[in-house]
Parts: sequence; C-alpha cells; structure tokens
Amino acid sequence: MITYLFQLYLQKFGYLAPTSGNSLPLIDGSALRSAVKEFQEFAGLTATGDLDQETLDTMALPRCGVKDKVGKGVNARRKRYALQDVMMMQNDYTGGLNPYCLVRFAEGEHGDGDPFDGPGGTLAHAFFPIYGGDAHFDDKEQWTIDSYRGT
Ligand SMILES: [Zn+2]
Repeated sequence: MITYLFQLYLQKFGYLAPTSGNSLPLIDGSALRSAVKEFQEFAGLTATGDLDQETLDTMALPRCGVKDKVGKGVNARRKRYALQDVMMMQNDYTGGLNPYCLVRFAEGEHGDGDPFDGPGGTLAHAFFPIYGGDAHFDDKEQWTIDSYRGT
C-alpha cells in the first residue's frame, strides 16, 4: 500500500510514465529507485534512490500541482516555478491578452482533468497565459490571511 501511494505520487508529478485506467502497472525495483532518485535530485535532497524519511517528509509537503518532470533534455522542468510570465511582463505586451486572470477555488475534479486531492498535497495549479492564465486553488485547504495557521 505504501509503495502504491508513492508510485502514484511519482507518476502524478512526472517521474514515472502515466498509465491508462485505474490501476498502476507493476514496475521493477530499479525503475522505482530511479524515479525516487530523480525526485530527490529535483528536491535538492541527497539522491540515494531510497525512500528514506527525508524523502517521505518532502513528498508530504504541500506543493504546486504542476508536474516537476515535463519534457526531456533542455525542455525538462528544473525548478518548481516557470519564468514565462516574467518575460511577458518585461515585454509590456497587452494586445490580445486579458489582464485579469480567472482565480477559482474548486474541489476534486473541476473540469480541467487535473483534480485536487483534498487537504495537503497539491495546493493549486495555474495555466500559462497562452492557455488562459487561470489559477485554481484547492478549496479543501484551510486558506487563511494574516494567520500562522492554515495555508
Ligand atoms: Zn484546475
């Protein structure tokens, strides 16, 4: 069961190939170990490939819902953020873009094929301006303002 949950996590964030249907394929230990090692490298941990406590704790942290691993080689995502929006602001481009992005709080499956997972885990995800620029936030999180409790 534990391995199944971490396999789901590694698949959701791009470290293991996606599968169709509701079941995960049986993967050999070396593929899982390699995926764990890639996650550790991305997260700035010591890359051992072992599901040690530090790795498990990092996987349990609230995070962005966008995959860490998209593309290969030079196109692969290397940071937990993207700089595309910064470039667009520097160019002062306004023609044809709606400057007001849709901010939406939603729960579970909400129509874009990337369902939220409830409290903890994925907090939010957003789309590049060329895809509408929408920002979606998981409404099952405890969102707070001016408080040390919640998110
Ligand atoms: Zn969404």
